[in-house]
Amino acid sequence: SKVVVSGANGFIAMWVMRDLLEHGYSVRGTVRSAQKGEYISKYFAEYGSKLELVVVEDITKEGAFDEAVKGVDAIAHTASPVYTTGDMVGPAVKGTIGILHSALRFGQSIKRIVYTSSGSAVIREVDQPTTFTEEDWNLKAVDAFKEQGDNASNIVKYRTSKVLAEQGAWSFVKEHQHDISWDLTVVNPTFVFGPAIHEVADPTSLNFSARLFYNHVADPAKSDEVAKQSLSNTVYTWIDVRDLSEAHRRALETPEAGGERIIASTGPWSWQNFIDTANSLDPPPQLSKPLPRGNPGVGSQHSCMHYFDNTKSQRILGMKYRSMAEMTRDTFADYEARGW
Ligand code: NDP
Repeated sequence: SKVVVSGANGFIAMWVMRDLLEHGYSVRGTVRSAQKGEYISKYFAEYGSKLELVVVEDITKEGAFDEAVKGVDAIAHTASPVYTTGDMVGPAVKGTIGILHSALRFGQSIKRIVYTSSGSAVIREVDQPTTFTEEDWNLKAVDAFKEQGDNASNIVKYRTSKVLAEQGAWSFVKEHQHDISWDLTVVNPTFVFGPAIHEVADPTSLNFSARLFYNHVADPAKSDEVAKQSLSNTVYTWIDVRDLSEAHRRALETPEAGGERIIASTGPWSWQNFIDTANSLDPPPQLSKPLPRGNPGVGSQHSCMHYFDNTKSQRILGMKYRSMAEMTRDTFADYEARGW
């Protein structure tokens, strides 16, 4: 069967497509320009006509995805601005509703749509450690955005974009439940790390989450900053990009996943945990710069404020999560191979 993957040149989308192709699916990726597709075609050349690329120049335009969704069996919608400058809410919401609308009108063969939402749509600011589940919504971010508008911080804008796009998707499905051939599954990943297979020229051109990882865990120029931060409560939760791509495929394949919101998350981390893990790799990574050391050992003293309950992902999708050691090892192997 054939799956549309929007935002095909992204960090997560490339792994989603790779996992699908490796499991025998055909993939139709959407990109914003033909030029952005060139690297993808080369990377997946061995799959021949099993990979198609189509240009969807502006996902906010009405009917933008009409052609892209014709004749396919499923959609994985990942395209959305991630900590970009300017408006994030508009493209996130319009792109998501737009692709659903195209699926309503032209996707008669579609059975399942998977939308990549985020843990950002789940958590809210709290003053004590809290475990979040699929019942939780980050409405505080939306309130802050309504109050602050364009002056809101990028965190507030991004979180709002993910809440409103996901809420919009659920409302769309409810409103059109009698007219659609498909159902919706939403995956809510936390910070996504791991090796990159999308087009990346240098560390500064990594996507947002992978760039943060490189800056904090591999770049000694930042190590003073890291040492300071690692004494603070900078602890979030993470998932390996390869586990996330598997979660997307399972979300597409598993009948019981229809209509479900599913958190995809491995567990908490602080930067110092990753730094210590990198420093204990055997053999040690051979990078062009020495590894940062931060403040060895202090990571375990940090308390996480935002825990995620991932039992639903295990129950419905059968997810098993890679370890911190495996993700860190493979990410550093990727840096090494790139000569960083
Ligand atoms: P990337 O930045 O690598 O990929 C984002 C993709 O979305 C790119 O293909 C990009 O295209 C496209 N895109 C961004 N803005 C627009 C726009 N205005 N119009 C059309 N396309 C656009 O990010 P990730 O792979 O990390 O993120 C993919 C999805 O996963 C997003 O929905 C994100 O919210 C979600 N997510 C990511 C997490 C993470 O830690 N990485 C955590 C939780 C959720 P182009 O290259 O042309 O800009």
